[in-house]
Amino acid sequence: MSALTDIAAVKALLARHGFHFSKAMGQNFLINPSVCPRMAEACGAREDTGVLEIGPGIGVLTEQLALRAGRVVAVELDRRLLPVLAETLAPYPQVNIVSGDVLKLDLRRLIEEQFGGMPVSVCANLPYYITSPIVMKLLEERLPVDSLTVMVQKEAAQRLCARPGTREAGAVTLAVQYYAEAQILFPVSRGSFLPAPHVDSAVIRLTVRRTPPCTVRDEALLFRLIRAGFEQRRKTLLNSLSSVGRDREHIRQALHEAALPENARAEELTLTQFAALADRLGEG
Ligand code: SAM
Repeated sequence: MSALTDIAAVKALLARHGFHFSKAMGQNFLINPSVCPRMAEACGAREDTGVLEIGPGIGVLTEQLALRAGRVVAVELDRRLLPVLAETLAPYPQVNIVSGDVLKLDLRRLIEEQFGGMPVSVCANLPYYITSPIVMKLLEERLPVDSLTVMVQKEAAQRLCARPGTREAGAVTLAVQYYAEAQILFPVSRGSFLPAPHVDSAVIRLTVRRTPPCTVRDEALLFRLIRAGFEQRRKTLLNSLSSVGRDREHIRQALHEAALPENARAEELTLTQFAALADRLGEG
């Protein structure tokens, strides 16, 4: 067992560095010894691959990635953790810690510079307060990564991996579907973390698609429609889509041409149906 999942050793390490958890930075560190090896295996880390980690904390997952991957680059926002990581990851020269905010970094450049063309996957226990923005940034920027194996809160996992056209689906479900195949891998109980959060978590895998699952003429319009439809998910699309700058008659006609009922709601539509609607609304 790694010392990084031994609660007494972790508390002693943090006390030695005068570290206190920051709730605002979503700091819940993994202390269940079986979770990180399982995540590292699931992300497909091998000697000839690289892994990008977001938020290494004290390096508990980073260590497991380093034991399997050829190179690991981990982006950490909290500068107070840098000396801790320098200590815990000292035995692993293949690990590079980058200090910064993952939402602000130029990740395409970082990946090019740090991995030099190796196949790269993302593996992380994500800070819960920015789960969706991180996932969407990684997908929307069409970064050269094969998959994202990430721990998120259980509810977020269900939303991200829901089947479009079901009540569990949200705008983010359809956006994720456009870029990746989403799958829940395994649940992780709240007791697996220090400090323990109020909710359980789950590890999900998003396998990045090489080509989108449907064709659409105007991608930006498709995502505007999805957002507008789900912002007022109880309303019919006929009522909720007026905010995208189309008049009611135009929307009614487009619904008709896309073979959708006039009272259709966002949560009832698949991605292909949204794409058909976007193509009709884009005309004229
Ligand atoms: N990987 C560690 C583990 O599993 O124990 C820590 C996971 S903890 C849930 C989230 C980590 O993300 C923390 O280390 C936190 O400081 C870091 N973090 C929060 N916001 C971040 C951001 N915008 N960019 C990079 N790291 C961030």
